[in-house]
Amino acid sequence: MGSITLSHVNKSFGEVQVIPDISLDIKDGEFVVFVGPSGCGKSTLLRLIAGLEDTTSGHIKLDGQDVTDAPPAKRGLAMVFQSYALYPHMSVRDNIAFPLKMAKTPQAEIDRKVEYAARTLNLASYLDRKPRALSGGQRQRVAIGRAIVREPKAFLFDEPLSNLDAALRVNMRLEITELHQQLKTTMIYVTHDQVEAMTMADRIVVLNAGNVEQFGSPLELYKNPANRFVAGFIGSPK
Ligand code: ADP
Ligand code: MG
Repeated sequence: MGSITLSHVNKSFGEVQVIPDISLDIKDGEFVVFVGPSGCGKSTLLRLIAGLEDTTSGHIKLDGQDVTDAPPAKRGLAMVFQSYALYPHMSVRDNIAFPLKMAKTPQAEIDRKVEYAARTLNLASYLDRKPRALSGGQRQRVAIGRAIVREPKAFLFDEPLSNLDAALRVNMRLEITELHQQLKTTMIYVTHDQVEAMTMADRIVVLNAGNVEQFGSPLELYKNPANRFVAGFIGSPK
């Protein structure tokens, strides 16, 4: 289960209102992309959902439960960062196992979950390597593996592919959408890349200066953009 509901969420840093008032309903199992230009508030919105930032006002619910004041560890969500967030001195196995070790999970369970993640991500033969002995795509898969072992209610990706080259990015997009089809877990994916949004999303949230311009399927946005901003950003004919 992984439905996510935002009700009138506001976030200000001091005097600066970054997110004036956002309400969103993300269904369990959906792949939702937050897209918008740099600085529009995508990361802030994701961090509010993750609990890494406190809302200034408004409410966040996961599976109908109010988590507005819950710390990140209590939310059961997994944030996937860019692959350079790996620990260079640790093996792939230990990188993936890290959140479970922190949670004092029994070793047998750690082994089982790491094996599962490694199999799912085609990393089984790389478990004893260090990150530096992996390709960029493999490193990114390790970062995702570290999220999978936690069996989160939802995965939160913040521009995970932005430091990969174009060809690899296309590959990883496919891998992430395949992973979504396999796990059927809710995923929120932040990007400033329209193509990524259009090819990966069940539904897209188009953000502009902290406001939701439109929330709909790629086809809806393309065929029926709510306004010029959406049309221009998505590249549809309006
Ligand atoms: P995006 O991820 O879409 O590029 P961000 O969510 O990172 O945008 O930032 C949105 C706005 O909020 C930017 O103007 C940024 O400068 C501001 N901002 C983000 N985090 C902080 C912070 N901790 N303190 C002050 N301003 C911040
Ligand atoms: Mg960002």
